[in-house]
Amino acid sequence: MPGQPERTAIVTGAARGIGRATALALAKRGYAVALADRLVAEVETTAAEVAALGVAVLTLPGNVADYSATQTYGRNVLNAWGHVDVLVNNAGISQPKGLVEINEAEWDEVIAINLKGQFNWCKAVAPSMLSSNGGRIINISSVSANTGAGSSAVSRFAYCAAKAGVLGLTRGLAKELAPKVMVNAICPGVIETALTAKLFTHNRDAILGSIPLARLGQPEDVAEVVVFLATVLPMFLTGEVIDVDGGQWVN
Ligand code: NAD
Repeated sequence: MPGQPERTAIVTGAARGIGRATALALAKRGYAVALADRLVAEVETTAAEVAALGVAVLTLPGNVADYSATQTYGRNVLNAWGHVDVLVNNAGISQPKGLVEINEAEWDEVIAINLKGQFNWCKAVAPSMLSSNGGRIINISSVSANTGAGSSAVSRFAYCAAKAGVLGLTRGLAKELAPKVMVNAICPGVIETALTAKLFTHNRDAILGSIPLARLGQPEDVAEVVVFLATVLPMFLTGEVIDVDGGQWVN
């Protein structure tokens, strides 16, 4: 349809950190980007940065764990832009409590945001990808889905469980939505963002010593791998998991 952007993406958790870097990286490649986040003022700041790159932008303020809101937002983006080519499920929270300390509400919250939030957005967008030209879904997990939480990590077992769920979601949907929709996951290692800021106050040298590439990851390190999964042609990759960890967990 005339006036609709040629390439479009939705990025959740786009107000800051990895999501913000991803939104900007996609915008630099000409994608119109819809930004979902519950930090209402901060997501508007990212939106202004995206708009300055000359592409269309929408903001979707709210909680990814809210099923009905995400379905409404999905419809709104489709009504505005006609199609969604790329969904980046990035919104997430840490959960520092161990099994003895955590309560039921805290467990439910980390699963609702980190895992169900990704289901909600897949449900909102994947059917339109299936009934059009296809699409690509990129889910952000964590190396701790595979390694468990290290002793210095900001999150513990409940976060690991949610992020391992993301890998199952990715593999299951990769088969189910093929061949039109490719679904892949990224497992970031230690990336310097607000989520991990506390980690570096005491443990910076020890963490650096455990990373073969000898630096902390930056949001852009993950964003560029998202761009690769979103844009590479030809594409013969689905259900795959890429660690972006500077070699910390190489095996
Ligand atoms: P961050 O805290 O800087 O950014 C996360 C963003 O998600 C924030 O803007 C936040 O408002 C948003 N968000 C959180 N809960 C939300 C909700 N319920 N609804 C809507 N938005 C919500 O963190 P980050 O480091 O950029 O993390 C991004 C993703 O990468 C997360 O899924 C995180 O688990 C994952 N990850 C990060 C690291 C790391 O070292 N930083 C490592 C592994 C995985």
